Amino acid sequence: MSDDCLFCKIIAGEIPATEVYRDEDVFAFEDISPAAPTHTLVIPVKHLKDVTEAQEEDDALLGKLMLVANKIATEKGLIEDGFRYVINTGSHGGQTVYHLHLHVIGGRAMSWPPG
Ligand code: 5GP
Ligand code: ZN
Repeated sequence: MSDDCLFCKIIAGEIPATEVYRDEDVFAFEDISPAAPTHTLVIPVKHLKDVTEAQEEDDALLGKLMLVANKIATEKGLIEDGFRYVINTGSHGGQTVYHLHLHVIGGRAMSWPPG
């Protein structure tokens, strides 16, 4: 845990959030400012500031993030119409919280390319 990290504090229950999934490795919760009818954030319990900080030892963890995201996409009924996974990285990537998170966004049609 990183003491000054918002998402570490959410995992620890120090800041409230609507929990969607939790196990020893992965936590998921609803985004406070949803960009679509479904907007859930899937994060590793281990503090990694962004996806580039992951090392070989994190390979199973990265895979698990995706599999939990798939479970959430299924439970939210997103599979048939499609959805989007997003990992914003760094300032050009639009990252605002520096604890790796996978956005699961769905429930409406989306455009491409992103802004
Ligand atoms: P980023 O821009 O870093 O990819 O995404 C950060 C996301 O975290 C944003 O979609 C933002 O709405 C969400 N967020 C920021 N602060 C909070 C918070 O306190 N609680 C929750 N649930 N989501 C947050
Ligand atoms: Zn953190």
